[in-house]
Amino acid sequence: MFIELINTGTELLLGRTANTHQQWLGCRLADLGYRVARQATVSDTGPEIEQALREALARADLILVTGGLGPTSDDLTREQVAALLGRPLRLDAGVRAHIERFFALRDRPMPAGNEVQALVPEGARVLWNPLGTAPGLAIEARPNPFRRDGAPSWLVLLPGPPRELQPMFNDTVVPLLRERLPPAEDSVSRTLRTVGVGESLVQARIAEPLRPLVATGLELGYCAHPGQVDVRLAARGPEAARLVRPAEETVRGLLGEHIFTAADEELETVVVRLLTERRQTLALAESCTGGCLAHRLTNVPGASAVFQAGLVTYSNAAKERLLGVRAETLARHGAVSEAVAREMAEGARRGNETDYAVAVTGIAGPGGGSAAKPVGTVFLALASARATVAEHHLNLWDRETFKQVSANQALDLLRRAVLGGRA
Ligand code: ATP
Ligand code: MG
Repeated sequence: MFIELINTGTELLLGRTANTHQQWLGCRLADLGYRVARQATVSDTGPEIEQALREALARADLILVTGGLGPTSDDLTREQVAALLGRPLRLDAGVRAHIERFFALRDRPMPAGNEVQALVPEGARVLWNPLGTAPGLAIEARPNPFRRDGAPSWLVLLPGPPRELQPMFNDTVVPLLRERLPPAEDSVSRTLRTVGVGESLVQARIAEPLRPLVATGLELGYCAHPGQVDVRLAARGPEAARLVRPAEETVRGLLGEHIFTAADEELETVVVRLLTERRQTLALAESCTGGCLAHRLTNVPGASAVFQAGLVTYSNAAKERLLGVRAETLARHGAVSEAVAREMAEGARRGNETDYAVAVTGIAGPGGGSAAKPVGTVFLALASARATVAEHHLNLWDRETFKQVSANQALDLLRRAVLGGRA
């Protein structure tokens, strides 16, 4: 099956917006057993979009087009597709009602310009968009005048904003693909997300033991993000499961507790779930992460069941006043030290009466390092009723990545403690 992706958006070509749709859709499609054969990014101009559509219609069985479904003058995808396929646009009463409701719920009048989003090309399926106004559209070009053999092509139009596109793809496009364009062969894929081991170490541990399975058709892939490495195991054909299952067992045996999930979820989601299941509570004392930990935890729906408070104590005075860190400890060891991290965690736990408290203190840089404590130094501490444990890391990244990586390590310290009942 030939799948082509067309991303519309001048901002993508100008490099102002990273084309995350290509990455996200490529990944999701691969997990579902499909492969994108070709991808094009085009500007928001009629002739460019039309040209890309013509070329894709001449060869592809499935064409996914992103962006340009909005109400403004640079949103041309719907009109271009309708014109090219000779499908008149009709006002869809259901879609119009959905758009009206969208604005009514937000207590805003519906701008006249949004009405174009209720225009649906004849014969198109509407893909509902609970998070925005523009519905997606799926159209089967059958027969397809652009293909020499007249074979049909499916055109799926998706909105630009990622928070609208992603749920729409999962909820409406995946069922459509399963029904109308099932993958040519069976496929199985598992992605194991790991934390606390670098990419080369992951590879060094698992590549050799997996070699016999790779030789018989297992696809093994790594994807490194700051502070996280994903291991993808996939196979195609009737034997797919018989390759992926033992491969997963092998990887689990070798990477053990470094694997935090096999699902499409973040480390903070796992942590909130573990604490929720155990009815345990958490407080944070953050210095160099500046609230990044609190931000990530509160991104998880239901975090309020476990998360009590997060203090961003950046100065020594704040560490003393809000967490009860002793002046003497600060003077003797410095704010970036194991001793201070421990007192921060203990102070946060005491002050908020939680089961756990996590503290982070470190030097993000570029200034502030010394020979004994270079830029990148991080001390983490975790306080619980059983004990206070501490860890030291050296995170050599830019400031923002440093925060994310340090937050990952803190979440992982907590995860391992909760799972192992160690701290
Ligand atoms: P809207 O109703 O918001 O105008 P739309 O369907 O017309 O939606 P676009 O106008 O093309 O979509 O894009 C809207 C926003 O979505 C862009 O400003 C951009 O932030 C984001 N976006 C679009 N395409 C991509 C992409 N390929 N990768 C990441 N973000 C994207
Ligand atoms: Mg737009």
